[in-house]
Amino acid sequence: MKTLILIIVLAVFFVAVVTEMGWLLLVRPRRRRRGEPPVVVSPPEAPGQPGLRTPGRDAAESAQAVITPTAPPRVPEQRAPAPPAAPEIEKPPPSAGRLIRLRERLSRSQSSVGSVLLGLLSRDRLDDDTWDEIEEVLITADVGVVPARQMVDDLRTKVKVLGARGVDEVRALLRTELITQIGEDMDRSLHTERHEGLPGVVLMVGVNGTGKTTTVGKLARVLVGDGKTVLLGAADTFRAAAADQLQTWGERVGARTVRADRDGADPASVAFEAVREGADLGVDVVLVDTAGRLHTKTGLMDELGKVKRVIEKRAPVGEVLLVLDAITGQNGLRQARVFAEVVDITGIVLTKLDGTAKGGIVIAVQRELGVPVKLVGLGEGPDDLAPFDPATFVDAILAA
Ligand code: GDP
Repeated sequence: MKTLILIIVLAVFFVAVVTEMGWLLLVRPRRRRRGEPPVVVSPPEAPGQPGLRTPGRDAAESAQAVITPTAPPRVPEQRAPAPPAAPEIEKPPPSAGRLIRLRERLSRSQSSVGSVLLGLLSRDRLDDDTWDEIEEVLITADVGVVPARQMVDDLRTKVKVLGARGVDEVRALLRTELITQIGEDMDRSLHTERHEGLPGVVLMVGVNGTGKTTTVGKLARVLVGDGKTVLLGAADTFRAAAADQLQTWGERVGARTVRADRDGADPASVAFEAVREGADLGVDVVLVDTAGRLHTKTGLMDELGKVKRVIEKRAPVGEVLLVLDAITGQNGLRQARVFAEVVDITGIVLTKLDGTAKGGIVIAVQRELGVPVKLVGLGEGPDDLAPFDPATFVDAILAA
């Protein structure tokens, strides 16, 4: 009997031990082996926009996406590091009156042309040689051969009608002629208005080095200064520095930047995502920077055309601005021709007019493309971009 009781007690004990072990085996999570990485689940990508990220949101998403199967280790009590100070958001000045503020930069580089022309036109005798000299001065000022000839013909006729020529008359004559050649009644306004509930879209194109990315940043400031909200699209995906540069410009005025998370991503999908996000956020204007590798003309043609087509699936493109370095003169005109073949340019931005550039390029490039110069860059400062105004420009040239 005793033996039977002992057997029963042992059996109960054995069953209890086995059950407990099994339970432990079933419920205890597998311990992560030393060196084994945590499981990382990528956040789902938005449909049709692989590899895109916008600053800020990504950090939060990836923080959520890291799932560690073990309980978090106990962290010794310590003060959380202070979050990095948010960059101070600047309030740039409005665009009105900027060219007047910056006209001294222009006159410094252009005034010699103005004073030489005024000197020649004021001579007592205007013979053929003098007119040839005037034409030469205009050509060397990058006006272009055909417009220079036309200007000389116009001036000759007007001088005959005028008769006596005092300094003021000559100045007025030249002023009127230059303003006429530049074109006073071209529409130079930027079409950045929202349209049917969608943001205005500006596509910035041009060869690398012309100041394209800088101009996108400066234009964002112009628009913010004029009271608009702006989002930037870094579709120059071939140069990581370009996206960083753009993001820095944007942060200064509180504008969000949509960019790819790797070099060489599809520029069209970045541009599309920027416009989509701009529309979702209800911003006024989306500015899209693009790559400008002119050496592969066919690739460029495909790429820019595609960027524009893809954007237009979401919102109409109000402006395609071609950025040209005014210093490159006739070379710049060749670039302009190539871009005009691949995409419909609606306006020109002439940068670096504060340097050694010749002002005549304004006349030449407008004539070449049949579209107006809308903005001019007059320095490397953040607010050195101004809406172009022919009368102020000509007055600066003749200011000496
Ligand atoms: P991108 O390659 O066309 O995007 O050219 P960036 O925007 O990087 O500009 C190239 C250089 O041109 C930079 O050093 C700019 O500061 C400079 N730059 C741009 N616009 C102007 C301007 O209006 N005047 C002057 N002096 N420099 C400019």
